Amino acid sequence: MIKYIMEKIETERVKETHRYCDLCGTEIKLDNWDAFEFILREGHAYPESGSGTEQTVDLCPNCARKLFKYLREMGIRINEREWFY
Ligand SMILES: [Zn+2]
Repeated sequence: MIKYIMEKIETERVKETHRYCDLCGTEIKLDNWDAFEFILREGHAYPESGSGTEQTVDLCPNCARKLFKYLREMGIRINEREWFY
């Protein structure tokens, strides 16, 4: 026979409190849509496993626009579409 008791367990978790632009250092507000995270994910993914690397950059709106302007100047086509919520 097994007897169980209810035990309260105190846990800790990681919670993001602030995010800063990786280019200019400006704080990016977390309560709105002003954060731009760019992710370069490389590797191999299979149904049973996978591995790889991930590089991320957080940018404020001004620096994200600068990056996109720079990418356009390099000849990279930026896809633009409207969205509604
Ligand atoms: Zn910035």
